[in-house]
Amino acid sequence: MKGLVEEFDPERVALIREPMDERRLAIFRVQGMVLKTMADILLSKGFYWFLPVILSRATDPLWPDPDFSIEKRIEVEIYGKTVRAMQSMIVHKRVLVSLGPEKFFILSPNIRIERSERAKTGKHLYEFTQLEIEVAYAKMQEIFKIYEELITKSIDAVRKTMKDELEILKRDLHNPEIPFKIYKRSVLEEKYGNNWQEKIASESKDPVWVTDIPREFYDYEDEETGEWRNFDLILPEGYGEVISGAEREYEYEKILKKLKRDKIDVKQYQILLDLSRDGKLKPSAGAGLGVERFIAYLVGAKHVAEVQPFPRIPGIVPEI
Ligand code: ASP
Ligand code: MG
Repeated sequence: MKGLVEEFDPERVALIREPMDERRLAIFRVQGMVLKTMADILLSKGFYWFLPVILSRATDPLWPDPDFSIEKRIEVEIYGKTVRAMQSMIVHKRVLVSLGPEKFFILSPNIRIERSERAKTGKHLYEFTQLEIEVAYAKMQEIFKIYEELITKSIDAVRKTMKDELEILKRDLHNPEIPFKIYKRSVLEEKYGNNWQEKIASESKDPVWVTDIPREFYDYEDEETGEWRNFDLILPEGYGEVISGAEREYEYEKILKKLKRDKIDVKQYQILLDLSRDGKLKPSAGAGLGVERFIAYLVGAKHVAEVQPFPRIPGIVPEI
């Protein structure tokens, strides 16, 4: 993607009054095929498919997070209560996985009001959709395998059945090798410094897993070793982080301690605390894949906003 962002005119794409060109239409056909392939695979594995919530009293705090750039959180009052626009459905996933369905997926719209400067990265949107999964009692490795299958099989489906689209997009798509390589964040940091994400992405032609990233309270932290059993998947060619996920915290004392350590308002997470105190919060692992970023990578987009019919580029509020 590097270099391509300069060719992209965000104001023009956000204008939405001109008919879509061939290229844009091809992108949306690819997206349809990818979502169908991924949903079919998950359904065939016995996953439930739930529809998302948009407003809720509880959502992902998105804090602490080394990549934090939220300039505003959307909170409104309805029926005398404050609700928030979903920043991610992590809290709902943890509750749901504890209440019966032990594996499921959700296409979940998220609102994250990123700072305007992030328009230029080519990979940020202030509304986007995650393909979220959560699996009771799972470990990270099982989640790696599931997403590796979703990614390679959807690339395969696009390569086999969408030759015309790839031609229009001038995209020479190759099948990545699985399993993807796994790196520890601290090792990358030592080797490349703060810029590790870009460096590792430019050195690899396939996506890579990065593990052990200190962040939100809900990801599992091993108190003895200090290791975080969480991960990101980094795409090549500058398309950025496309998945983040983790094994989860499920013990009351630990959750409470981490919420306090992070200075987070405990009230919003009372349901997690209550379930965990009663021994009803099941251990699980899961993750979410940024749909638009993944499609941007498949089609070789100049900017991830090309993958949205109504682009949500940081700093730009279009008329529709
Ligand atoms: N989807 C992520 C997870 O499952 C949360 C996030 O959006 O960062 O951990
Ligand atoms: Mg997160």
